[in-house]
Amino acid sequence: MTTLQIKCSNCGFEQFVKDHKFNKEYRKDYEKARLILCGRNVCDTTHIKIPNGYVREMLWLGSWSIVREASLDEYRSLKKARLLRDWVDNNDTNNNR
Ligand SMILES: [Zn+2]
Repeated sequence: MTTLQIKCSNCGFEQFVKDHKFNKEYRKDYEKARLILCGRNVCDTTHIKIPNGYVREMLWLGSWSIVREASLDEYRSLKKARLLRDWVDNNDTNNNR
């Protein structure tokens, strides 16, 4: 079994992980992740903007999450959701006039 030390990209908090579940389910994503976030209360991530084409995914351990590139399918549904949201926003604005 391997041990992995994951480190928060925002506050630098570190945690050791030695569960094979991590390797099985998240290691690939983790290695490709753009940001690793610990999600602790003291770790303020409100200023972090998730870039276009990236998604935030919760990890099973504590409150950790990663921001990784979206798969093509995910990207498509994100784009769709965004279009839909824009449309709803515009519609709301019109209705309020
Ligand atoms: Zn943190």
